[in-house]
Amino acid sequence: MEYIIQNPDGQRFSSESLDDIAAALRGGTLSSDCIAWHEGLLDWTPVLDLVKPEAPQQHAAREAAGKAASLLVKAGNGFAGLAAKGYKKMTLQNRFSKALAAMLEDGRLDDSELDVLRQMVKEAGGNWSEVITECQPIAVRFIRHMLADATADEEVTPGEEAAIYKHIRLFELDGMNGEVNLTISRVRALHALRENRLPAPLTLSPPWIKSGEAIHAHQNAEFCKEGVAVSAGDLWITATRIEYVSAKSPCSVDLKNIREVSGRGGSLKITDARKGVRNFRLADGEMGAALILCLLRSAHRTATVEMEDTRQDRRRITKEVRNAVWIRDGGRCMECAALDYLEFDHLIPVAKGGSNTVNNIQLLCRRCNGSKGDRI
Ligand SMILES: [Zn+2]
Repeated sequence: MEYIIQNPDGQRFSSESLDDIAAALRGGTLSSDCIAWHEGLLDWTPVLDLVKPEAPQQHAAREAAGKAASLLVKAGNGFAGLAAKGYKKMTLQNRFSKALAAMLEDGRLDDSELDVLRQMVKEAGGNWSEVITECQPIAVRFIRHMLADATADEEVTPGEEAAIYKHIRLFELDGMNGEVNLTISRVRALHALRENRLPAPLTLSPPWIKSGEAIHAHQNAEFCKEGVAVSAGDLWITATRIEYVSAKSPCSVDLKNIREVSGRGGSLKITDARKGVRNFRLADGEMGAALILCLLRSAHRTATVEMEDTRQDRRRITKEVRNAVWIRDGGRCMECAALDYLEFDHLIPVAKGGSNTVNNIQLLCRRCNGSKGDRI
């Protein structure tokens, strides 16, 4: 390995032998206040550190720093190269957030990587809490990546949940709790419905309700014809019917007449055997459809289960593909560039011949994913 030595006057020379460097130091031809760099180091280090025998702990730390350097090189920012050439000193902020960004490239942050970061900060005499603050923008994107990943298979394990909250605490991002809570509880509610677990009925009693009729959902909704809202009202889902209460175009669909249900994003499509297709626009069409399907199953009725196919599709997207899509799309919604509530979306649905490959998958926010549902 080539060692580059720089004396306090800025003169440089190199050596390939640590023994020679040690001898030069002992003999006084090399001043002990020189600094040195070699490949794998993130920054210049006192030359004395190169030649003095290292305690095992220090050695481990140095190896860890070397690992971080190789991560940086891999990430293509060439920081180690800059350090070697002694170009203008990079700020602490750049150094650590770049190191963190490199560590997060694979969509995960291991404890050993965090140890590397801590060690880097310590060696550079940096302040950990300042580093945390500087790294927050990167950490926010990372947590959203974790969240999209964890929810991609429509189940969030306790381990995935714990990891997300751990990083929220680590990077002091309490402001993200709401987004994470909402996303995880929604995915869990959907999962419960698919496992035939109905939520407890709502304790509301609109005037039209029959005694003993359980209400399972209530959302503001618009009735749509050919993609255009023609009225606004309230959509109620009870154990026996779907009741759309509106001054202009109210309607009621008996669950036993439903032949097909599909919900995606902000749209809900119900096919009534006698009255035909009804389209609604509402906050969460997927949840509405999942609830109706759950009610139909619990009544042993079958309906075309389009959305259950999409669930299977999503499960088959591998971690590698999700990661490549995340990096390619820059952690942004490809429609509106939003950075939050991101989901992995098939350009061509698997049911229509689309594959689970990087080319057929994009990042969309839940809002855009919903309006896409209107168009398909
Ligand atoms: Zn969007």
